[in-house]
Amino acid sequence: MKLEDYIPVVGAEYINQLERLARPLKGLRVLNVNSTKKGGGVAELLNRTVPLMNELGIEARWEVIEGDAQFFKTTKSMHNSLQGDKITIPREDLDHYIEVNVENGRKLSFDADIVVIHDPQPAPLIRYRKEGQHWVWRCHIDIARPWRDTWNFLRQFVSQYDCSIFSMAKFSQNLPHPQYLITPAIDPLSEKNVDLPNSEARKIVESLGVKLDKPLIVQISRFDRFKDPVGVIKAFRMARKFNECRLVLAGGGATDDPEGEEVYRQVIQEAEGDPDIHVLMLPPEAHRVINALQRCATIVMQKSTKEGFGLTVTEGMWKGKPVIGGAVGGITVQIYDYRTGFLVHSIEGAAYRIRYLLNRPEMMRKIGKSAKEFVRSNYLITRNVRDYLLLFHSILYGHGETIVLEGAE
Ligand code: UDP
Repeated sequence: MKLEDYIPVVGAEYINQLERLARPLKGLRVLNVNSTKKGGGVAELLNRTVPLMNELGIEARWEVIEGDAQFFKTTKSMHNSLQGDKITIPREDLDHYIEVNVENGRKLSFDADIVVIHDPQPAPLIRYRKEGQHWVWRCHIDIARPWRDTWNFLRQFVSQYDCSIFSMAKFSQNLPHPQYLITPAIDPLSEKNVDLPNSEARKIVESLGVKLDKPLIVQISRFDRFKDPVGVIKAFRMARKFNECRLVLAGGGATDDPEGEEVYRQVIQEAEGDPDIHVLMLPPEAHRVINALQRCATIVMQKSTKEGFGLTVTEGMWKGKPVIGGAVGGITVQIYDYRTGFLVHSIEGAAYRIRYLLNRPEMMRKIGKSAKEFVRSNYLITRNVRDYLLLFHSILYGHGETIVLEGAE
């Protein structure tokens, strides 16, 4: 994928702007570190952002830390408690978390001008900062009301960074450094989002054993409690009493998420014997399948009870679908009632909106159309790249120096 391939999607002027912004940053070495190569939104984002930055002349790299089962169990508890669960993590697990980071730090090369560390898993790597480097912590999770013990523990690392990035203003924290707001984004040209002929999308979905004989409700998510798959089944069953429809719950695990299996089993149990409910465990590379499912959906659901941003919402909107999403975290900056979808606060609310939309095909079309345009203006990968370029300008030259961009008026 080349930068110029994005011209038909966002326009030549936007790409030109990126090139102008990148010119003064040519040769800048940027290292990204996270904890999974596959699965989850962060990997999705890095997968495209890093090559695009390279094309713009920035020497961007992406490294992934490794850990054992105890490490990922601890970081999952950390993730859950930062999203609000009252979990006190045992001291020995926290010590192990730090040790694993120290081991990773010994193996990784931190040769870079700017190091961007994603999420809590690799946060303690800050101890490897070298003189003259700028370290940025980017938080992708919903940290509006963190469990204090966990945040206080994590804060000792985060506060050492030069700045941090959150996906929403209300996730910002009391920290001794500048905090930036950057929302995530999707790649319109990736296998997951690229246009698919209708016939191909239908073929893919039918090959999964899902008949396209009734309106299709689709939720794509890791099997995670905060995505509330069981709540989706309950809402679906309430709506189905009045409107014929089918439900697909599809998702896989992420290598850094050990709880997936258990939630998956619960979902299977809940759906047992219902011929209208399809629970699909997807392999990590199922991008085209996800694309096809979203395209064949009549309504896309993302009934999360906590959500950093919710790229699946963006993906559904980009496919011109009305999305019903939990009124939490980043979903609330994507869905605006009656315009780009519907926000819901309960199972009953979700059921009501499913029925409401199924009975109003014209409204579904209208909402889907504005949803797509809203994503085009705000949540495409080119905007994520632009925000990073602006961040780098701010970090490097943000002390009163004015940068004149070549070609600018
Ligand atoms: N995803 C995937 N396979 C799955 C489940 C999800 O590829 O089985 C993708 C999904 O399409 C989206 C991302 O992973 O691009 C999930 O991002 P989101 O922000 O919705 O949630 P997260 O998993 O980061 O909490």
